[in-house]
Order: sequence, then C-alpha cells, then structure tokens
Amino acid sequence: MEHIPYNGGIMKINKDQEMEEREAFFQWFTEEVPDSLFPQIAAQVLFRCLDCSECCRGEGYALVDEGDIQEIARALGISRSEARERFTQPDPERNPGCRILKSTGPMNMCCFLDALANKCKIYGSRPRICRTFPMLNSDPLADDAICFYSDCQGTHRFAKMIQEKRRDPRVQKDMEKLAEQPERLSALRISLFVWLRRMLGRIEEADQICRITGIRPPQDESAFESYCLAYFFMTIKTEGLEEYLAEGNTTANKRPGPHLP
Ligand code: SF4
Ligand code: SF4
Repeated sequence: MEHIPYNGGIMKINKDQEMEEREAFFQWFTEEVPDSLFPQIAAQVLFRCLDCSECCRGEGYALVDEGDIQEIARALGISRSEARERFTQPDPERNPGCRILKSTGPMNMCCFLDALANKCKIYGSRPRICRTFPMLNSDPLADDAICFYSDCQGTHRFAKMIQEKRRDPRVQKDMEKLAEQPERLSALRISLFVWLRRMLGRIEEADQICRITGIRPPQDESAFESYCLAYFFMTIKTEGLEEYLAEGNTTANKRPGPHLP
C-alpha cells in the first residue's frame, strides 16, 4: 500500500472525527506494516554511511518505480517520459512496475554518479532504494532481516559496532525498559516509522502521523538511537556476526529492491 488512509490536510471538525482518524491509522499500521520492518529501520537509524559511493557502481543496480522516476524528472526539470527514456531501462528481474537506472562504463557506474567528485548528481532526489541502502533493502518478509554487504565499509563498521555493544549493560537496561513498558515500545515503533517517512522525503505524511498519534519527533537524538539499538538486539538474531566480520561475508545482489509500505 502506498498511501496511509488518513485525512491529510483536512481540518478536524470534532473529537469523534479525530478518534476515527486515529483508529483508521492504527488499524492500517497494524495490518499493513510488517513487524520485521521495524528492526530494519532501527538498523538504518544506526547506520553511518562513509560516502564511498561503492554502492553506486559495480555489481547490482538501482531499482526504481514510477514515483522515483517522477522525482528525478522533477529535479531535472524534464518530463517523466524523458527521464524514463534517458536514465532508466527495463528491470531484468521484472519486478512489477519497476525499471532500473542505467549504468555506464567498465565500472558499471550508475548514470547519476559524478565520477570525478564521487558524488550523486541527484542526491536530494535520489531514488528510495538509494536512501534506504543498505539496512532497509532486504525483503522484510524474507528470513534475512538484515543484509550485510561486504562492499560497503559502512556495513562493516555497523557490524563491528553491534558486536561491541551487544553486551553493554546500558543497552541491556534499555532492552529491559522496552520489554517492561509496552507503551514505550509502541511509541518507539511509531517513531521509527515517522523517521522512515522523513528519510523517504515524505515530510507531510510524517507530520500527519505525529499529529494523529500524538507522538512527537525525537527531541533527544542520542536517546532515540539508544532505544533503536536496544530494539535492534531485541528483534534481530546476531549469531553469525563473528563469521561475517572474520570472512567478509556477502549478500550477492547489492541492491535487491524496495519493499517498503
Ligand atoms: S557503499 Fe556503504 S558506506 Fe559506501 S556510500 Fe554506499 S552505503 Fe555508504
Ligand atoms: S542515483 Fe545516486 S545514490 Fe543512487 S545509485 Fe545512482 S549515484 Fe548512487
């Protein structure tokens, strides 16, 4: 589902309407957003990109949908059909409604990568899959809740960080708090979803969710990150991490595709 069923922008008339809107949102949130998405969002909150641009070249490709193409077209001041024609090609895996960004040269560089500056030319309007790489790029319904990408140094650093923090007493304490306080846990899940909306550039939606649920954006980033870490450990198995760090384990396809609600 692409859109959240609430009355964005419509003035509230009375308390009943407010309650209805809240109930509709929570029903949608419970039924449509898979549980396995939340630890992935938490991981992406904690992930630190090193801006090496390795994920913009080499094996793999960036999968885009019509929304992404529209955003690229808007950023470049061209029509959607021109953007589709000039910058995308058919998806070899035929994901419904998707195409892939064209790549160029022997390094198979994304057509939007500025090779000299090593920067994305459309960074502010980059496709969803690029915004959510790497932690949110696995299928939340699949078993591999988190993908580790050997080419990504940020992923390697992330793996080391979680290895170091795994037995940190402060993390254990936060885990206990989340386990004992369901309201805190539920507020964290909504905050994670709001964070994801903002990251995808859906600021209006994020603000609406905050208004409907009464959840405020995190005031204290470091407290939010501490809870993300605790939530990550509560929901993700970290067995195999040592092997990954020792062997540089890899997931074959670097950019498997967006599966976000
Ligand atoms: S490969 Fe990893 S660290 Fe490098 S730019 Fe991509 S996400 Fe960032
Ligand atoms: S669109 Fe930008 S961020 Fe995405 S793969 Fe291409 S160069 Fe990298």
